[in-house]
Amino acid sequence: MTLAKKTKAIIEKYDFRIQKRYGQNFLVDEGVLERIIAAAEISKADTVLEIGPGIGTLSGNLAGNAGHLICVEIDKNLIPILEETLSEHENITIINDDILKVDVAKLCEEYNGGQPIKVVANLPYYITTPIIMELLEKRLPIASITVMVQKEVAERMQAAPGGKDYGALSLAVQYYSEARLVCRVPENCFIPRPNVDSAVISLKLYEKPPVEVINPDRMFELIRAAFNQRRKTLVNAISNAVNLGISKEQALEGIKTLGLDENIRGEVLDISQFSRLSDLFFSK
Ligand code: SAM
Repeated sequence: MTLAKKTKAIIEKYDFRIQKRYGQNFLVDEGVLERIIAAAEISKADTVLEIGPGIGTLSGNLAGNAGHLICVEIDKNLIPILEETLSEHENITIINDDILKVDVAKLCEEYNGGQPIKVVANLPYYITTPIIMELLEKRLPIASITVMVQKEVAERMQAAPGGKDYGALSLAVQYYSEARLVCRVPENCFIPRPNVDSAVISLKLYEKPPVEVINPDRMFELIRAAFNQRRKTLVNAISNAVNLGISKEQALEGIKTLGLDENIRGEVLDISQFSRLSDLFFSK
């Protein structure tokens, strides 16, 4: 039976109502499934966290390759389905919760002795960016993140300075990880079809970021301020952000110290320039 037929049969059997609000687009393409599993490079030594297992299509394959699989699914109506579709696997823990409310560090501790886990998911598109930012910025013990995202989000993750796609997400991804586009995925690989194209992206997290910065959290506050007011000059964007506590004069001085034009916009600075600026402002 094809994956599409299996998926339709499960939906019918359980009279399952697909929830658009949860971004439910089930993967039904065998080839894409194999690409995700291969890109995630999972072995029996790995503990894997899957966000949003849906009806368990990816999960079964992940459990077959991994030492242990933890699935976090928000939709309670999917839990009995998962318990049945995944019943042959004894190495799965299913958690019915919102991934943004789950303590991932605690899961790593509980299921992998605090050692790095691998994250794999066909992400719900309505919260892709918060999930990725949370996983990266909390500096959790994560070795890699292999995820299906909206094609535009994959492009934003890999964007270079200066373009319209470049922003806080690009900088976070590039500071914390090495990103690789695995494949593009057309709409017809899902049931129901999303009205956007998708892509699988693999992020290998650095043990040591490519640039050094005294306070990464403050640097990302600076970056957010720069992109919150993209149309403003960097000096104005920084000095307008109350949480930073930087005056216009200080902002101007910092930008001049870096040898940059006083009318420059934040969107042309790369990660090493942001890190130097951050160290100038927040060295104490
Ligand atoms: N993994 C399945 C597949 O590939 O067919 C389903 C992927 S579907 C795009 C996204 C899944 O994430 C759905 O099962 C949805 O219910 C779940 N989900 C949505 N928001 C969530 C959240 N905040 N926390 C955990 N799971 C969530």
